[in-house]
Amino acid sequence: MRFASLGSGSKGNCLVAEAAGSRVLIDCGLSPRETARRLGRLGLEPGGLHAILVTHEHDDHAGHAYAFGAQHAIPVHLTHGTRRAQEEARRSADGVELRMIEGREPFAVGAIRVEPFTVPHDAREPVQFVLGDGARRLGVLTDLGASTSHVEKMLSGCDALVLETNHELEMLWASDYPRWLKERISGPFGHLDNVSAERLLAALDRSRLKHVIAAHLSQQNNHADLARAALARALGCSEDWVGVATQEEGFGWRELN
Ligand SMILES: [Zn+2]
Ligand SMILES: [Zn+2]
Repeated sequence: MRFASLGSGSKGNCLVAEAAGSRVLIDCGLSPRETARRLGRLGLEPGGLHAILVTHEHDDHAGHAYAFGAQHAIPVHLTHGTRRAQEEARRSADGVELRMIEGREPFAVGAIRVEPFTVPHDAREPVQFVLGDGARRLGVLTDLGASTSHVEKMLSGCDALVLETNHELEMLWASDYPRWLKERISGPFGHLDNVSAERLLAALDRSRLKHVIAAHLSQQNNHADLARAALARALGCSEDWVGVATQEEGFGWRELN
């Protein structure tokens, strides 16, 4: 199994995972043209994808999922709540094959086992995903207001984690964001800050972890070195061992063997 990110942050998220010839995207927040271009950077073509898994309706995750799915005949998997919100956002589902999923019911895309899990976030019916190939598990968690015991159970024992480190709390409060936005981002249905991500990671079974990547960093209210340092504290490892997903580059292929 291997995985890579096409980009991560409030301007668009997209991650690709592959196992035994099956390939899925998690989220499609970049334009179809940009998604195709960045897939090319990883040596992939849109036609080689078997599913788009959508976490929730926010633009940076679902903004282009229907358009990309329609253009390349890739089924889009999403919860009922996310589909309703997509309708309300007037995103056309013309020509898209929609597959409905439940927040706690695993399913398969070829060789990839997909375990969705429910999360607290200010969207209609948001989920995040653990992907597995029967031997290894990759946990992907962005857009989380606060951790829950369910989240911790799902992410425990993973071989790789992509974990939201959205902001440094002090930087957010010192920023020129309006107060309501600061409260939304740092609230229980907003985004995970560095210290909360550190605590979440420290609460997990980390015995199998070979890759940890900090993701969905705010370009205004975080620095890569702060995010990396927070996760390294939880792991008791050197900071260079923790990867960072960037908005422009994401991160390159990581192998799970
Ligand atoms: Zn987001
Ligand atoms: Zn969101």
